[in-house]
Amino acid sequence: VEMDEKLKQRIANHPCYSEDAHHHYARMHVAVAPACNIQCNYCNRKFDCANESRPGVVSELLTPEEAAHKVLVIAGKIPQMTVLGIAGPGDPLANPEKTFRTFELVADKAPDIKLCLSTNGLMLPEYVDRIKQLNIDHVTITINMVDPEIGEKIYPWVHYNRKRYKGIEGVKILHEKQMEGLQALQEADILCKVNSVMIPGINDEHLVEVNKVIRSKGAFLHNIMPLISAPEHGTHFGLTGQRGPTPKELKEVQDQCAGNMKMMRHCRQCRADAVGLLGEDRSLEFTKDKFLNMAPEYNL
Ligand code: SF4
Ligand code: SF4
Repeated sequence: VEMDEKLKQRIANHPCYSEDAHHHYARMHVAVAPACNIQCNYCNRKFDCANESRPGVVSELLTPEEAAHKVLVIAGKIPQMTVLGIAGPGDPLANPEKTFRTFELVADKAPDIKLCLSTNGLMLPEYVDRIKQLNIDHVTITINMVDPEIGEKIYPWVHYNRKRYKGIEGVKILHEKQMEGLQALQEADILCKVNSVMIPGINDEHLVEVNKVIRSKGAFLHNIMPLISAPEHGTHFGLTGQRGPTPKELKEVQDQCAGNMKMMRHCRQCRADAVGLLGEDRSLEFTKDKFLNMAPEYNL
């Protein structure tokens, strides 16, 4: 399925959204958002949020000021840097002050850099206006189910409005907020990509249904990612022994959905502090002890 011309132009220099762009343009993530407000069975809190990244990676946490300094240093050193994303290590919208402060600082000094964030969607309806104001033009929501009974096997609890909701009660809130968030993004004309983590035996057959729903609510790209099972990292306490899909199983589900909408197939499940072109990881060149001693492109 082809995208229309207007959309193509809008994502032309975004490495994650355009297969042509990912060889030429670079992106970076800054890890400013440690907290999370839900529990995914496949997540180990010691590592980066598995909704947009790989398990087993620990990113160096930064303050908004440090993160903005880092972005400006890197923008000076890597001219193809077009996109700044906040994707963790927890949920960016569970850390709204840190996330939005970082975006404000960067937008002020480097307005050409496009901003994006990823979220589990729980707090999205509350922040769509703020996202729009800040000119954040791409949001990624991780949606693993549109049926709370399936969600019950994925999410043991959800923390909402200062209360912890266990089991299906929590999942229903999450589902409702994800759907409201999708709708609100569409109304605000903010591009929305959906990530789904494919968990064999749990939501694999259900993902076609997820695809149908998100398409009808205006998502422009669907990224079905494999669960990366890493027992050595102690992940998946709620899904003990849970395996990830084989490449063939993953491709089958992606193909089933591909007749309906554009599928993303080149996602690298980057770290929450990734730097560079999608195929490369330059995060170690810019650790805190290093970038704090480098002069930024503009002064903060
Ligand atoms: Fe972990 Fe991300 Fe799920 Fe939160 S949303 S529990 S950080 S995988
Ligand atoms: Fe792009 Fe996927 Fe990496 Fe996010 S995790 S920056 S969508 S390639």
